[in-house]
Amino acid sequence: MDKKDIKSMNLNELKEEIATLGEKPFRAKQIYEWIHVKLVDDLEEMTNISEKLRTRLKEEYEFTTLEIVDKQVSKQDGTAKYLFRLKDGNLIESVLMKYKHGNSVCISSQAGCRMGCKFCASTIAGLKRNLLPSEMLEQIYRIQKESGERVSNVVVMGTGEPFDNYDNLVRFLKILTNENGLNISGRNITVSTCGLVTKIREFAEENMQVTLAISLHAPNDEKRKSMMPIANKYSISELLEACQYFFEKTGRRITFEYSLAQGVNDSEEDARELIQLVKGMNCHVNLIPINPVEELEFEGSAKKVAEKFKNKLEKSRINVTIRREMGRDIDGACGQLRRRYDRTDREEGTKEC
Ligand code: SAH
Repeated sequence: MDKKDIKSMNLNELKEEIATLGEKPFRAKQIYEWIHVKLVDDLEEMTNISEKLRTRLKEEYEFTTLEIVDKQVSKQDGTAKYLFRLKDGNLIESVLMKYKHGNSVCISSQAGCRMGCKFCASTIAGLKRNLLPSEMLEQIYRIQKESGERVSNVVVMGTGEPFDNYDNLVRFLKILTNENGLNISGRNITVSTCGLVTKIREFAEENMQVTLAISLHAPNDEKRKSMMPIANKYSISELLEACQYFFEKTGRRITFEYSLAQGVNDSEEDARELIQLVKGMNCHVNLIPINPVEELEFEGSAKKVAEKFKNKLEKSRINVTIRREMGRDIDGACGQLRRRYDRTDREEGTKEC
């Protein structure tokens, strides 16, 4: 029988588990704190837990940890990219970004992705598997421990489509925001989706104070379909209605991600159409020149074009920023570090790095 994943349990579940082992409930709280506050790597470090109980825990439970395979630090801004290996050998990446307002970690929600966006490196080799809540938490825990930096913000914008792994995502968010754990405020967490409309509505019902970022990337359905297969399933108007619903339920302003691809979605006409779409919505538009991926055909818009696009939106009083690129010198777009390792593995015919 598979061992139970102790790091994916919330405190109540852990209390029930510990009770079945014939232990007092306060033990559960102590263990929970070792895992989610003190971030220990090993059960042996739980010094106020008896050896007998530690042995029992080891026998019954999986204690998920991530192995750091590689770390690259940007000389420009200190951004650090981590490549982690999961227990089954799959690789995922996460990024630590240092801002004046605090440290932010960008995590992956899946190993690979099946959404097929035409400009994205993470989806080229398809979906390997969903990440467990413990594997999402561990990315933050490992980085906080390894860097010695307190993490105050989390963005779910790494590899994967978080709403394609909905139950594990919500469980992860609940543990992350719980006062008995790292206690990161929902307001300091952003979840980015390519636009799974039914899940956006479901997420609104969770009533977590999390920011929702929507990867819009195009001002009309036709263009969006040429960039993102999900646009064949849901129209932009269905997507925006779900966003409006999310805003009404949570009071949280939506962020629209708009990656500027040269000659594809960066013209003045595109800006005009985009304005018509989002005008009057309580939202923020984040422009990001596409980060070119070797195997893919998209090129980023020139700085001047991006500025022009931004000015046009600003003139219509839309909240807009051009996202500052972090760690340009360390393997560009997200998913690329992992991809480079995957390729090297294949070429060398080995799983070792
Ligand atoms: N699946 C989620 C989250 C992961 S991607 C989503 O689609 O939102 C995080 C963001 O980076 C998304 O907005 C995605 O469209 C964007 N992105 C992916 N590849 C990119 C690239 N090469 N250049 C610029 N943005 C990219």
